[in-house]
Amino acid sequence: MGLVIPFVAVLGMAVGSFVSAAVYRLARGITVVRGRSRCPHCQHVLGAADLVPLVSYVWSRGRCRYCGVRISPMYPLLEVTCASGFVLLWLASATPAMWVVRATLFSLLVALVLTDLQAGTLPDALTVTGLMLATGFAAAGWSVGLNQALVGAAVGAATILVIVWASRGGMGIGDAKMLAMIGAFLGPWGALGTLVWGSFLGSVVGAGLLLTGRATRKTKLPFGPFLAAGALLAQWTVPLWLRFVGLGAPPGS
Ligand SMILES: [Zn+2]
Repeated sequence: MGLVIPFVAVLGMAVGSFVSAAVYRLARGITVVRGRSRCPHCQHVLGAADLVPLVSYVWSRGRCRYCGVRISPMYPLLEVTCASGFVLLWLASATPAMWVVRATLFSLLVALVLTDLQAGTLPDALTVTGLMLATGFAAAGWSVGLNQALVGAAVGAATILVIVWASRGGMGIGDAKMLAMIGAFLGPWGALGTLVWGSFLGSVVGAGLLLTGRATRKTKLPFGPFLAAGALLAQWTVPLWLRFVGLGAPPGS
């Protein structure tokens, strides 16, 4: 048992490293599956020794071994974020299957936040793949029931599409696919909770940016990061709320 936590942390680091490579490629429209990783500056193909999460970065003091260019601290930070996320989720999950589902959702959300911030896109390679994974988990009995997953995906897509239609472009189809994916993981109530939290956080941050003069009324905030934060909050708060209003499982079950 004592080795489980370090294993989960190392796995999180490896996933973080994969996510950063995937985001780099998705943000530039390069295929994720094929091709070797290269230094973005000198294009040198990176070997195994350059790709050990965190260790390579610390060992080379944050520089490319071939051309000496500084590597963004975002990469090790992302690895540490995924490692700590994976460990916290492990500690909070009752079964390994539950952890697999949550860690998968977490990794997808992290990747979506980064592609939205870097390139303003929520790629199908993440949202649609995530939707299929979530449906598979539900069918295997690892997460919400299959009906819940399918209704959750439909509710997630439909609510955003209504907002897109009503606001004439406040959000996009990518946001609809992302909330459909979240709905497939968390069910319809989870999708609605994500939207409520995401809208709340978006309004708070938007108001803050307006008040400090760092945005105007015309500035478009990417909604993906707020949906991601909303999903993490909804994962914990929606079951509590459902119990509170008597729609969920009774306390202690
Ligand atoms: Zn280089």
